[in-house]
Amino acid sequence: MGAHILVVEDEEKLARFVELELVHEGYQVTKASNGRDALRIASENKFDLILLDIILPELNGLEVLRRLEREHPTPVILLTARDSVMDKVAGLDAGAVDYVTKPFAIEELLARIRAALKNHSGSKIPAAAAQEGTLCWGPLTLSIPRHQVLFEGHEITLTNREFHMLQILLENQDIVLSRDTLLEKVCGYEYVGETNVIDVYIRYLRSKIDDVYQVKMIQTVRGVGYVIKSFAS
Ligand code: CA
Repeated sequence: MGAHILVVEDEEKLARFVELELVHEGYQVTKASNGRDALRIASENKFDLILLDIILPELNGLEVLRRLEREHPTPVILLTARDSVMDKVAGLDAGAVDYVTKPFAIEELLARIRAALKNHSGSKIPAAAAQEGTLCWGPLTLSIPRHQVLFEGHEITLTNREFHMLQILLENQDIVLSRDTLLEKVCGYEYVGETNVIDVYIRYLRSKIDDVYQVKMIQTVRGVGYVIKSFAS
């Protein structure tokens, strides 16, 4: 039996769509359409993960999250509206492990669910290298404490923003990151500007890494965003 996921969403069509996709992926799904039901159901069952909409009737998602954290700690991915920056910050502060901005591509949601289940399952296996602050992709290594990127031992000079962007892509290998997500992570929540700055940074990174070393590290997923896939020699 797959992981058991509670979907808390009052938009019936969206809830049904997510349920169908999750069931198709082999997960076991329970739904709740308001905050009170969500808390009751969460207290009566053991879930591996909760997808929690923030704007809910009865009891809003953030309040549900706070009470869950106190009473039934479970990894939570928040579903947020695009412009509710405060909600995202408050949600992460309140203990959510991740958030997905609506409208989302189902593939992104599924990837985040897989990542959350992997990172927060009982048999958590932390990557030893990542713990020491080193991220690897085949011949490339990125050292966070040294702020250094090496390709087969050759140092690649990156600006802070380029370094941070590469770090985020390497930390999320195999997860397609949307331009909005990258923008928030690289430029911060307050950043107001065009998401095409992300395309510019990607171009810089490619010109310094992909073009020089003849690799295809950063892949474009048309209409969605960018991904670094696990290295396959
Ligand atoms: Ca809602």
